[in-house]
Amino acid sequence: MGTHYAFCCLGCGYSAEVSGGPDCGFIAQTETVICNTCRTVVDVVVGTNSPSQISTDEFNQCPECEGSDLTPWDESRPCPRCKGTMEVNPPGPMTMWD
Ligand SMILES: [Zn+2]
Ligand SMILES: [Zn+2]
Repeated sequence: MGTHYAFCCLGCGYSAEVSGGPDCGFIAQTETVICNTCRTVVDVVVGTNSPSQISTDEFNQCPECEGSDLTPWDESRPCPRCKGTMEVNPPGPMTMWD
């Protein structure tokens, strides 16, 4: 089961609800990345336990714009808007996504 956290930028207030790293649900394996097109932090599908439900065409694709100009979101958790640091706020898991 995958878990989402609310990350909030201390600099500009941008927030995103993502896993914050490699995650795995019942069907999809995801990774948290920055979409350089949308300038948002998103979870992209990188693998599946159920190939009949997710096509490989959807792997490594931004869910917003379907683009593939993606940068891994590293340990320093940079904000895609202002390059500030994003922190979990409020602390703790928000939602279970499957
Ligand atoms: Zn920011
Ligand atoms: Zn995008």
